[in-house]
Amino acid sequence: MAWDESFSCDICRTTKLATNHWWLVTLGDVLCFEEGQPARHFTLVPWDAGASRNEGVFHVCGESCATKALERFMSSGSLTQEVSRASARV
Ligand SMILES: [Zn+2]
Repeated sequence: MAWDESFSCDICRTTKLATNHWWLVTLGDVLCFEEGQPARHFTLVPWDAGASRNEGVFHVCGESCATKALERFMSSGSLTQEVSRASARV
């Protein structure tokens, strides 16, 4: 019953509606295969009511935003590049 509590897309900020088919993205640390490789992975899973409330889970509203999330991850290693990277280049 509480599965559609107010979620918004972490990419485009649209609000989730009950009929939307959303996805969850998690970034995690993995053991490096080789030195110098990014120690992270990008996981895309169908919306899950339980997992959607977990800390560190990103909510994406569909294919388009999932693709953008992947692009951000590939270019910056993060899904929140606007926020986290802006201050790092002083
Ligand atoms: Zn979106």
